[in-house]
Amino acid sequence: MAEYILYEVADRIATITLNRANRANAQTQKMLEELNQAWEAAAADDEVRVILLRAEGKHFSAGHDTSGSEETRTPELAKVSAGIPETGLLELYKWEAKYFFGFSRRWRDIPKPSIAAVQGACIAGGLLLAWPCDIIIAADNARFSDPVVLMGIGGVEYHGHTWELGPRKAKEMLFTAQPIGAVEAERRGMVNKVVPLADLDKEARDMALQIAKMHPHALAMAKRAVNHTMDIIGQYAALQSVFDIHQLGHASAYAQAGQMILVDHKAIKAAG
Ligand code: ZN
Repeated sequence: MAEYILYEVADRIATITLNRANRANAQTQKMLEELNQAWEAAAADDEVRVILLRAEGKHFSAGHDTSGSEETRTPELAKVSAGIPETGLLELYKWEAKYFFGFSRRWRDIPKPSIAAVQGACIAGGLLLAWPCDIIIAADNARFSDPVVLMGIGGVEYHGHTWELGPRKAKEMLFTAQPIGAVEAERRGMVNKVVPLADLDKEARDMALQIAKMHPHALAMAKRAVNHTMDIIGQYAALQSVFDIHQLGHASAYAQAGQMILVDHKAIKAAG
């Protein structure tokens, strides 16, 4: 039984719901594990033609839960912190390669169409859940931001900004840590459609129903064609390379402050 995720299959649509609304769907390790299990269940289920990712509450996701609360502490993360004196940042590298980069990449390549329905804030790690989806439908109140530069790091682990927004807007988003609104995101091609907040679930579901009528093999091949084209252009190599640049940010923060990020919650909150 999942704690932070709801999962339901109906009408050939697997609906995965982020269900930690009381924390603006901030992501813990357990939540990411549950989310990945839901994606894998949808991938393996022949009844499922389309995957719909949505979120309970006002916000899609406030990103990774960096509060240090009880819920965020796991044996693996304890090992990451404890391992730093002996192994440098190797354990952190491995942990983030799995939970942040690896999961996002896996979801991006699951051979079934996926739709993200995004409302409210989609901050930093929230982008790692939305970007891997094939289609993004945004409520008119959606706003997308990556304030990780405020933590001394050049952007989130799965660095999709340049691909999603083009280089100039990507730089503006990173340099200013300011959010991009739904309409601007649509104009840039990051979002397929902007709809009134009240219609978000219906619009996302209608598109899922429409896609679910198509032949599953044709859908898988269409997705593969686009994803491979992006990878031939260099997307995968670039994402991997920038993941390493991200780790350099962690190393620098650790060298300066003995922490993996330079946490300034006030500044981060103001930017979000
Ligand atoms: Zn990181």
